[in-house]
Formats: sequence, C-alpha cells, structure tokens
Amino acid sequence: MKLTRRDFVKDFLWLSGLVILPAASVLKGWAREKLWQPAYRKLEESGKFAKRIEEVYALFEKCELCPRRCGVNRLRGERGFCRAPLQPVVYSAHPHFGEEMPLVGRRGSGTIFFSNCNLRCVFCQNWPIAHEGRGKKVSDAEVAAMMLKLQEKGCHNINLVTPTHVMPNILNAVRIALGQGLKIPLVYNTSGYERLEIVRLLDGIVDIYLPDVKYMDSAMAESYSAGAADYPEVTTTAVKEMNRQVGELVTDSRRIARRGLMIRHLVMPNRVAGTKKFVRWVAKELSLSTYVNIMAQYRVDYRAYEFPKIARAITGEEFLEAMVWAEEAGMRNLDVRSLVVKDAYRR
Ligand code: SF4
Repeated sequence: MKLTRRDFVKDFLWLSGLVILPAASVLKGWAREKLWQPAYRKLEESGKFAKRIEEVYALFEKCELCPRRCGVNRLRGERGFCRAPLQPVVYSAHPHFGEEMPLVGRRGSGTIFFSNCNLRCVFCQNWPIAHEGRGKKVSDAEVAAMMLKLQEKGCHNINLVTPTHVMPNILNAVRIALGQGLKIPLVYNTSGYERLEIVRLLDGIVDIYLPDVKYMDSAMAESYSAGAADYPEVTTTAVKEMNRQVGELVTDSRRIARRGLMIRHLVMPNRVAGTKKFVRWVAKELSLSTYVNIMAQYRVDYRAYEFPKIARAITGEEFLEAMVWAEEAGMRNLDVRSLVVKDAYRR
C-alpha cells in the first residue's frame, strides 16, 4: 500500500502521542513527588509553628498531655504516671527494618525510641524502655540532630516511638531540624492512648499517624493497661481525629508512605483485643481502605504470665479468625505481612 505524505504525518502524530502522553504523566507524577513537602514545613511557612510550640510547652506546667491528666508541674521536675522528666529520654535512634513495608522501603524507617510510657501495659515487649525508663536524657537540639542523622542515612521518615509524653520536645526538635534541612515525613507511632485536644495540636505537623488500637473493651484495658478503662473510647475518638487530619495512606512511586493513617492491632489470646469489634468499627467509622496491620506477634512478656488469660501465645486459629473477621468486614488494605501470616497458618 502506498503511504501518502498526509498518512505519514497523521501516523507520526498518533504514534508520538502514544509515547509522549504517558511520558508526560510520568513526568507530572515525578514533579509532584519532587514538590512534595512535609506538613511541618507548610506550618512553618504559614508562620504558625513557633506559636504552636509555645502553646504545647506551656502544657508541661500542669501536665495533661495524655488522658492520665496527672496535673504535675514537669517544668519544676515533678513526675506523673509516665515517670517522664522534662527532658526527653532516648533509648536508641537508628534505621529500623522491622516496621511496615511502606515505612521501611529500602533504607529503613528512622526510628527514635523515647523511654517511659503513659500506658504501661502488663504485657509490654519494650518494658526496660517503657517501664524502667532506660536511656539517655537529651536536649531538644540533640533530638533534632538525631533526626538529621537519620535523614542523612537515607531513612524514609522519622518514626517517633512512644511520643505522647514528650510531644512538646519533639515539636521543638522538629522545628530546629527543619531549620537545618529536615524534609522527610514524621511518623507519630503511639499506643493510641491520646487526648483528642492534644491530637488536634498536631494538626499540620504529623504526616503519618501510626496508632495502636489495643482493646475495644474497657474491662480488658483496665486489667492489662494500668487501669486505663477509658482506652477504647479515648483511642477510637483520637484515631478518628487522626483520620480526619491525614486521611487514608498515600504512597509515592516507590510505594513508600508519604501521608496518612496506618493502624496496628495486636491479636491477643482469648479474644482479649476485641478484634471483631475493632474491624467492624474501622469499616463503619473510618473506611474500608484504611491501612490496617493485624499483628500475630503477641508473646508473653514482662508481667503477662501473672494474668491467666494472656499468659500464653495466640494460636493459629485465633489469628485466622481475626483475619476472617477483617475480610468479612470488607477491609481491603490489610498489611501484606498479616496476609502472608494468614496464608502460612492456612497451609
Ligand atoms: S504525660 Fe505523663 S505526666 Fe503528663 S499527664 Fe500523661 S502520664 Fe501524666
């Protein structure tokens, strides 16, 4: 068939469209990623970050940073239920490869473990850090230096473990580090036992919330988390606010988390964690696409052996029933490791 000049031009334009259009969309995505900024940077640019830090630091005077609401004056060295001093105590700061895949990527999650805790569970797997407060007292500027070092190492985020009782120090450290080039997302890795009013103060600062939802039953929370009978109500309220602020998990082209909510739920023996109620709550109150990690790694630790209901590991059947409940509830963004463990138990 003879190709006319007009046909040639028409075919050329059509073919180049096929090549150019996808290239344009890839470029657009790439440009969007390059232009991405952490939430805290936008807050700084709006001129509101310094004032927010002043506001949260003032909370130390009569500490009500968490639902325990001790009212102690931490500025004067008094200590409340968490036993935390005014200065943060850090146990370790390093790239962590055991977290969820969207946090770990290839270079790890830049994890800073803060000592002391406001929940103090009897089955705590980090008890030397959380209960005994082991670690080193550091200044906010030193925490900022740790953040920058983790970023320098290539970590994809700053993962703040047990941040609740040192939140003002963390915010101050973030602003110091921002002034020296911090630009990766902040992960607020919490037990979930957070006051709504305090979570609201984190709006526009935290990029990724990583709360536990440990129980859905007050009696369980009271027994195993130092009398925190209000845990289910307080935590579900706080998680709803986190979801309002950051929404569903968003990842970049490398599938690394940039922003959003990721919930952890540890399956416990004898249905202590209330998994069925939990997944139904997520489906109803958040969304079916909420990222949920149903975890199988419960082990008898710290003082758990003193409590008959939780003095054993979970069985394969217990984990499988938890996953079935999640699937029946319609959850469609379950952590990949929970799916792998489910398949392993099914075999
Ligand atoms: S952060 Fe500590 S001192 Fe402050 S209210 Fe909570 S447990 Fe009490």
